[in-house]
Amino acid sequence: MTEAQLMTDADARAAAYLAGIEARPVFPPAEAVAGLAAFDEALPAAGTDPADTLALLDGAGSPATTASNGPRYFGFVIGASLPAAAAAERLMLAWDQCASSRDNSPAAAAIEAQAARWVLEILDLPRQSAVGFGTSATACGLACLTAARRALLARAGWDFDRQGLAGAPPIRVVVSEKVHVTIVKALRVMGVGTDHLVRAADDGQGRIDPERLPALDDRTILCLQAGEVNTGNFDAFADLIPRARAAGAWTHIDGAFGLWARAAPAVAALAAGAELADSWTTDGHKWLNTPYDGAMAICRDAGALAGAMNSDAVYATASADAQKNLTLEFSRRARGVPIWAALRSLGRDGVAALVERHCRQATRLAAGLGATGFEVLNDVAINQVLFRAGSDAATIAIQAAAAASGEIWFGRTVWQDRPALRMSVSSWRTTDADIDRAVGLLAGLIGRG
Ligand SMILES: *Cc1c(COP(=O)(O)O)cnc(C)c1O
Repeated sequence: MTEAQLMTDADARAAAYLAGIEARPVFPPAEAVAGLAAFDEALPAAGTDPADTLALLDGAGSPATTASNGPRYFGFVIGASLPAAAAAERLMLAWDQCASSRDNSPAAAAIEAQAARWVLEILDLPRQSAVGFGTSATACGLACLTAARRALLARAGWDFDRQGLAGAPPIRVVVSEKVHVTIVKALRVMGVGTDHLVRAADDGQGRIDPERLPALDDRTILCLQAGEVNTGNFDAFADLIPRARAAGAWTHIDGAFGLWARAAPAVAALAAGAELADSWTTDGHKWLNTPYDGAMAICRDAGALAGAMNSDAVYATASADAQKNLTLEFSRRARGVPIWAALRSLGRDGVAALVERHCRQATRLAAGLGATGFEVLNDVAINQVLFRAGSDAATIAIQAAAAASGEIWFGRTVWQDRPALRMSVSSWRTTDADIDRAVGLLAGLIGRG
């Protein structure tokens, strides 16, 4: 088989997979998972036919996939892939660019620079900010928080790059009681142990209680959230950030999915004041429905991010907007390209319509669940619905039964020390009929319980 034939075969298999995505069980059945044993082979001593490798991948792998690219996957706020973004990604595989800087790939550098401008425009963040296209909100959060600490230390006269942390003035980090686990991970990687985090009390809905905000000073990083992962709620940016600024603190906003509310007029007010922060992280692969893995580290002081992430061999030649100097990666895929393609294909109106439709569908879902006997636990502000059944045992059993049905999938969480269920509406494929089908299924399950 020639390279061209192999690629045609891959394209045909991908097309067939996508054509069947609506009918596919949302979580793979046990037989398909058992079929993954086909991959349990010895490392071949000699080469094998590429066509055979692709056939095995499709034959045993495809049936065992989770249909997260389909319309009724409601887990983890992760969306499907928009056609334009997925197609751009596919062409990019043929390019195989190492998109670290203009020297490696003028095309990637130019398109990612355009994507960066559009991201700042659609999220209405300060236009001079640097945008690094990294792998995940986790990695981009690490990049931003590292830049934050380095900048605060520089203001205190400490050269972090040369002197490191030993003997450095202490930096406090204030996080919400409901901080996302990946921010805690990033801080742990940075050497900020969990015992040293200052936890800001929340208001029972995942927002920091402004009345109980811990003291802030010019050695403090304040981590806020645009979209708490269970409730979808937003911290009170317009109140909290001016207080942080007055104290000389650095504010970082984790907006992995929720920052996209700023692109939708109907809900943008929830995230008002977010533009006052110093740095932000958001994902493409969640609400914008781009393929994994694509996220953004955004920093108001472009030099602060470019300094912290610098990987130029010679400092004096540092190109501040090279992506290798804005992300953790050095050799990298041009992760901004599918984000560019998503924004270009949807346009400003299309992004707003996608976000607003998901918010409406979440409201419809919550109303349906409430009417069939579930307790809805959150103020449904955006696309997240947090709920439980009458007893913890029933809550747990209903999640398992829903997953086993193959019709829908969503995960369990813990809310106020008890099991709860969380559904996220974030796929461009999800229709109102899919929402009604989910409600119908869950109504049947709670009726049985
Ligand atoms: C998903 C999520 C993250 C982590 O994002 P990744 O891209 O998966 O690393 C961080 N914060 C919140 C609120 C999230 O929902």
